[in-house]
Amino acid sequence: MKAVVFEGGRARFVGDRRPPVPVEGESLVRVELAAVCSTDREILRGYRPDFSGVMGHEFVGVVEAEGTEGAGGALAGRRVVGEINLDCGACLYCTSGRPRHCARRATLGINGKDGSFAEFLTLPTRLLHPVPEGLAPEEAVYTEPLAAALRITEQTDIADGMPVGILGDGRLALMVCQALAATTGARLTVRGRHPGKLALFAPYADVVRTGRRACGAQGGSEADEGGEADPAATQGAPTGGGPAAGGSTGADPADRPAADEPAADAGFEVVIDATGSPAALAEALALTRSAGTLVMKSTYAGTTEIDMSEVVVREIRIQGSRCGSFGPALALLRSGRVALPPIELHPPEDFEAAFSSPAFKAALDFR
Ligand SMILES: [Zn+2]
Ligand SMILES: [Zn+2]
Repeated sequence: MKAVVFEGGRARFVGDRRPPVPVEGESLVRVELAAVCSTDREILRGYRPDFSGVMGHEFVGVVEAEGTEGAGGALAGRRVVGEINLDCGACLYCTSGRPRHCARRATLGINGKDGSFAEFLTLPTRLLHPVPEGLAPEEAVYTEPLAAALRITEQTDIADGMPVGILGDGRLALMVCQALAATTGARLTVRGRHPGKLALFAPYADVVRTGRRACGAQGGSEADEGGEADPAATQGAPTGGGPAAGGSTGADPADRPAADEPAADAGFEVVIDATGSPAALAEALALTRSAGTLVMKSTYAGTTEIDMSEVVVREIRIQGSRCGSFGPALALLRSGRVALPPIELHPPEDFEAAFSSPAFKAALDFR
């Protein structure tokens, strides 16, 4: 089968990979679309040095053969999406309601399990969710990032009228913004640096253009299983849109709030970092009100530094946030209450173009 394989620190396309064989409890899924996520780009940067195998974790496919312990045959031939954490079911975390933190978990296309950049994948049947009728693959492929966005509402109380700041204007930020707009009464403000992208947020939030470079010195970016940063920052250079799109290019100390930014006490009760950039962390902290909550959605290769004394003195709660439940995400997609930007499709042979695409969402098309 065709597949994009990560090995020895780089990705390559292969046309003759042996299809995976389902073990007990697993189903075989024929992949239709597999979306590129920031995590995939981070893997190329060294985020998961121990991983080797088929990349990719966001997908829509059709169940070719349903395994046991599944939905009793109800999934055979159905279009599905799949949760990506393969928990053991037996460890402390699995037996205390935290299976996504299973100490022995494998993660599709990220850790110990061949992923979705291939014509076929296998997953435990219990992790598969049928795609509701009427939802196209191009929409359903947003399930995982939308679930990750909704995770915030499972972790943090967001009251009606509460000022909530979202940092970043990339795909994850858009998912977060739409998820919060659809499920909370928060007063949303989005801060980003790309006028063209910020326009997408205007129906749901106040938008503030920061007009400065938001990515780190390495052009580093990106987020977690489900997270995503600004694709332009990923490439380390502004992409199109004229002079306004790039802002300044690194002359600013990126970790200093600019003069026009509000003092911390004028900030937000909840700040969500969806920039994918370690350089944004100081700004995120500055914008979080004392005794407020800073939700971290970004992961990146390497480490970063912030003033932890400020966290202590201002009693800021830092909440890491990763994957969410697929059920609510599918229901929200089905409701039509989120507007999704079109997906840019690439043949799997052109995975490099998909990886470097500045589009909101690029995917490999295996159909
Ligand atoms: Zn476990
Ligand atoms: Zn992802």
